[in-house]
Amino acid sequence: MLTETRSADQSPIHHELLRQNAFIAGKWVNGPDRIAVTDPATGKVIGSVPDLGADAALTAVEAAQAALQDWRRVSPLERANVLLRWYDAIIANQQALARLLVAEQGKPLAEAVGEIGYAAAFVRWFAEEARRINGDVLASEESRRLMVLREPVGVVGAVTPWNFPAAMITRKVAPALAAGCTVVLKPSELTPFTALALADLGQTAGIPAGAFNVVTGQPAPIGDVLTSDPRVRKFTFTGSTAVGKMLAARCMDTVKRVSLELGGNAPFLVFDDADVDAAVAGVIASKFRNSGQTCVCANRIYVQRGIKPLFAEKLAVEVARLTPGCGTEPGVTQGPLINDAAVEKVARHVADAVSRGGRVLVGGSRIESAGAFFAPTVIDDVPADALLCREETFGPVAGLVTFDTEEQAVAFANDSSAGLAAYFYTRDHARIVRVQRALEYGIVGANTGLISTETGPFGGIKESGIGREGSRHGMDDYLEFKFVCEGLR
Ligand code: NAD
Repeated sequence: MLTETRSADQSPIHHELLRQNAFIAGKWVNGPDRIAVTDPATGKVIGSVPDLGADAALTAVEAAQAALQDWRRVSPLERANVLLRWYDAIIANQQALARLLVAEQGKPLAEAVGEIGYAAAFVRWFAEEARRINGDVLASEESRRLMVLREPVGVVGAVTPWNFPAAMITRKVAPALAAGCTVVLKPSELTPFTALALADLGQTAGIPAGAFNVVTGQPAPIGDVLTSDPRVRKFTFTGSTAVGKMLAARCMDTVKRVSLELGGNAPFLVFDDADVDAAVAGVIASKFRNSGQTCVCANRIYVQRGIKPLFAEKLAVEVARLTPGCGTEPGVTQGPLINDAAVEKVARHVADAVSRGGRVLVGGSRIESAGAFFAPTVIDDVPADALLCREETFGPVAGLVTFDTEEQAVAFANDSSAGLAAYFYTRDHARIVRVQRALEYGIVGANTGLISTETGPFGGIKESGIGREGSRHGMDDYLEFKFVCEGLR
């Protein structure tokens, strides 16, 4: 059952932070055409942004190139201070930003508050890292001193998705600014308001005009500029694998540095010796957070035969307790999906699983409402070749596949072109070590369903991406090496 939806006069948006223009060269920029932004929980338009194209993107690149000349020379301490002021501003506005985020993206308010905190954590982390951009002095030769300098890559083009409208932005912009780079960001056209609010707070915090630009509009014309303009020296993308591959290929004409955070298809293994309650809690945290719309969310759940009936029963009870509704309503734990196309994809995956013998234990269908809701769902006896296992479902559906041996579980888990996150539950320490080693993934959760932190390197192997975000390694993508040989005679 859906909880009561908010009435039309209860605007969810904190108006002080709502900016409905793009932000280029430190100025708010309008345009003749607009893109409407919709609240996925109600289907109602909540505002609009300019539909800017290649010209605006070129202006933003120019502004970023101009700002780069000064920003790269600002001392690391001062860059850190600007970022720390941005962090303070984000935290001071955490609740208001979270409400803005809920309005355009739909996740429950508590999750949105958590995402703003997570987004801010990247800003603080990279403020701290700004002061640790250290090179090397190599073993000296008699006639030459050999040094390795770290220098900012230059202008960064960034493209981000709708599922984390705050964190995906700071995870790129904060290390770029900390390194001395400047940025042109194209946020998802579905969730531009959080990005614009972050840019606004950044300006107040002292990020100079042109150092962080946000260009709104349809993706292709802006993307074309960011992937082809020779002044953009690095392109960083988070989103679907198909789009990421296409944009990365375009970057090769001007040989840009490229980072990709792409789709996952995370396996979640539950062994007979697991703590069942903990494993159920892990699935709820990993699979149902953001209604299953995270790149690291458990997509395929493999359960060992002995424990499967108990696990399925307990998971069904917990999933039946989840409460879908508008993210700002008290007690809601499941927001809408981003749009109708997402609901249709989830329905297609469920129909496919059922047609192959899957048994729906809970949910299984769209929730009739004006919003894009799909009922939290558990399907038992899903065959390993179902769509639920082969593609990212990106919705609140837990499909359970049975396995017999550890070897079979690991083979199932690794049978994917994706390699972002994987999870497993067992109480056997030797198995923890074996399975950790065997999983071909960039991130592994052993007895936990929550793996995201600004302190750890986030990213995938195989077709899930190139590079890492967050952690001390997150600066590397924004820094070049310069090897200097200094003759001494
Ligand atoms: P998407 O690829 O459709 O869109 C991502 C971004 O690319 C958006 O800003 C979109 O406007 C833009 N885009 C789309 N077509 C473009 C084009 N032709 N030129 C330029 N830009 C273009 O992905 P999405 O639906 O927004 O996000 C969901 C996907 O993102 C999932 O696959 C998810 O796994 C992935 N994701 C990955 C991570 C990670 O860290 N690995 C994090 C979050 C999301």
